[in-house]
Amino acid sequence: MHNLHCHTHLSSCAKKESTLQVMIGALKKADIKVAGIADHIWDSKVPGSSGWYAPQNVDHVRSIHQEYSALSDDERAGIKLYFGCETEYIGQGRVGMTPESAELFDFVLVPPHHFHMRDFVRPSGLEDAAAVRKLMFERFMECCNIDFVFGLAHPFTVLGYDGRVDEILSGYRDDDYREAFAFAKSKDKSIEINVSSLHKEGRKDSDGLHAEYRRMMTIARECGCKFHIGSDAHEITRLTAERFALTEKFTDACGIVLPEDPLNP
Ligand SMILES: [Zn+2]
Ligand SMILES: [Zn+2]
Repeated sequence: MHNLHCHTHLSSCAKKESTLQVMIGALKKADIKVAGIADHIWDSKVPGSSGWYAPQNVDHVRSIHQEYSALSDDERAGIKLYFGCETEYIGQGRVGMTPESAELFDFVLVPPHHFHMRDFVRPSGLEDAAAVRKLMFERFMECCNIDFVFGLAHPFTVLGYDGRVDEILSGYRDDDYREAFAFAKSKDKSIEINVSSLHKEGRKDSDGLHAEYRRMMTIARECGCKFHIGSDAHEITRLTAERFALTEKFTDACGIVLPEDPLNP
């Protein structure tokens, strides 16, 4: 399997022990053959960074290449690595990366709904479920319009609304998802099957799978979207074979056929 969304210690929210060397070791142990490093980034050339994002600029995230150079041949063997990033989207076309800087990365992921970042990504006071759904939908569509973006990180994952995942997602009609994913398909954006999202709260169906995500991703598959897997791991405990096995069970149930290498299908 592949895993295109893996953080390292270069992300401020990751464990300090999550060096590239350690993460590669865990990825190989979980039988991942193709991996993408995607640390959080806000390009300093774009005004409006948050205090949290400011140190996580292009030079910082690209320092992963020095770390990679320091690895032994043995450590590098047996896995194909891509060096990407996970930038940010805060609405009204404002994305934390310039097209020029995007060229420095093998791929760019953009998260449409990092709504746990209050007063930055998520407007304060946004609580009503219908209003949350409406903004998530709009942000998804806007992110599809960013040319340099390869894929959408954890689309429609409810962040920042603990205990309300099912309440928010169940309000989307199948046709809403159809409209969103048909648009993503028309813009050739890769839809992320986010391993962490599959483990989040929410009603499980009779197969033990997250019912709302299964409904969503089945529709995305019917729309002809392309997909990638993203562990969103910030530490090695999130890179276990068990977690990827559940992900495979989920994609099978949705009828999704995964590419070996989503960046080179
Ligand atoms: Zn994210
Ligand atoms: Zn992430």
